[in-house]
Amino acid sequence: MSITNEYLQGLMERVEKRNPGEKEFHQAVREVLESLEPVIERHPEYVKHGVIESLVEPERIIKFRVPWVDDNGVVQVNRGFRVQFNSAIGPYKGGLRFHPSVYEGIIKFLGFEQIFKNSLTGLPIGGGKGGSDFDPKGKSDLEVMRFCQSFMTELYKHIGSYTDIPAGDIGVGAREIGYLFGQYKRISNTFAGVLTGKGLEYGGSLARTEATGYGLCYFTEALLNDHGFTFKGNTVVISGSGNVAIYATQKAQQMGATVVALSDSNGYIYDPEGIDLAVVKQLKEVERKRIKEYVNFRPNAEYHEGCRGIWTIPCGLALPCATQNELDLDSAKALVANGVKAVCEGANMPSTPEAIEYLMANDVFFGPAKASNAGGVATSALEMSRNSIRNSWSFERVDSMLREIMQNIYKNISEAAAEYGLDGNLVAGANIAGFTKVANAMLNEGVV
Ligand code: NDP
Repeated sequence: MSITNEYLQGLMERVEKRNPGEKEFHQAVREVLESLEPVIERHPEYVKHGVIESLVEPERIIKFRVPWVDDNGVVQVNRGFRVQFNSAIGPYKGGLRFHPSVYEGIIKFLGFEQIFKNSLTGLPIGGGKGGSDFDPKGKSDLEVMRFCQSFMTELYKHIGSYTDIPAGDIGVGAREIGYLFGQYKRISNTFAGVLTGKGLEYGGSLARTEATGYGLCYFTEALLNDHGFTFKGNTVVISGSGNVAIYATQKAQQMGATVVALSDSNGYIYDPEGIDLAVVKQLKEVERKRIKEYVNFRPNAEYHEGCRGIWTIPCGLALPCATQNELDLDSAKALVANGVKAVCEGANMPSTPEAIEYLMANDVFFGPAKASNAGGVATSALEMSRNSIRNSWSFERVDSMLREIMQNIYKNISEAAAEYGLDGNLVAGANIAGFTKVANAMLNEGVV
């Protein structure tokens, strides 16, 4: 697809010029603008009042130095970011990513996507994202703690439970959230629900750890059911082996599917008898080891170096849950040749535009990230509301609310696509439904 509307084309050109070199951000904006063509034809007021121009420009970008001392006494200096993208419908909300690939363009793409995703949850949360080029891999717990404390020493000035509420993302799990929260509490002298994904002992929500992976499966289930299919009996390939991948595997298995592959940034494992999740959890969550170790515990499993080969494994369902642009056109071709029925995104923007186009042109049901992985942030918003009134809900209650939210997201984006004559195009449906709520709030709030 390409942008044909002259106004949107001009806007896209300006975004590219103003944000040079930020290719992931350009990609995310382009995909949304492509979907908005029919919307602005029907609603010229969005153009007249500059809503889309404002939407592609973050409200605020905070960029800071993060100095810390490693275990050898050597000073290390990383970069920290927080992009407060849009607060039209609620305080900024979005995770923190710690990964060496992080730069401003990655955080902007993630923050931009987050605006629409958060809107789709139906909950009052705006879009933001943050992170650092710090790599927690191979660092000791004390190094991670010192880094997190330094990061929060700057970030705390800019966040708050009614302003901006960060959470985890790649490289930021329970350990990092704990250190960040401890430092926030110490220097602000406030015990506030200013981060989500917290430990259960200090204000976290049951089912938050599982929420993105489970939510992905609930969304996929709604999509499959709508077309007369279920998870049961399907072979599933899932990339990654972090938080999202692990709990997507758990839920897919509970729903009667056989998950046969997982990966990390070095390679992938193929276990034709079905992944033994207890082994994966021990390796990745407890020992923080590489996925290749899995074959030491499962003699019939294979390990392959390199990531993309995972998409050549025959499967009915593919759930990319690792990182952006991990599923390219060749991967999409291999999946289609092997008869894949549905691809639903657990990671943010894991499929390239060419891959999405190919999958959809070949009648593969496609669930875009901003809808299908919204379960994590939705459950974070539930954690925020429980923190405000100082109590908690049972696992079952949060899980059943999560399932309902994911079913509603599927329904709303399907209806939004149909309303514009784009039946079945969930990419357009998610962009349109997510956009409409935010754009109307922006119109009502005036030029701010
Ligand atoms: P984790 O850090 O827990 O796990 C990330 C996984 O992806 C690891 O297995 C990692 O391997 C792999 N990975 C990371 N970078 C690459 C790469 N360049 N190539 C191949 N594999 C890679 O992160 P999460 O599971 O939390 O996040 C995964 C995705 O889901 C991200 O896109 C994130 O933005 C998205 N997401 C996460 C949410 C959450 O609640 N956690 C919510 C919504 C979206 P390795 O260990 O080798 O780095």
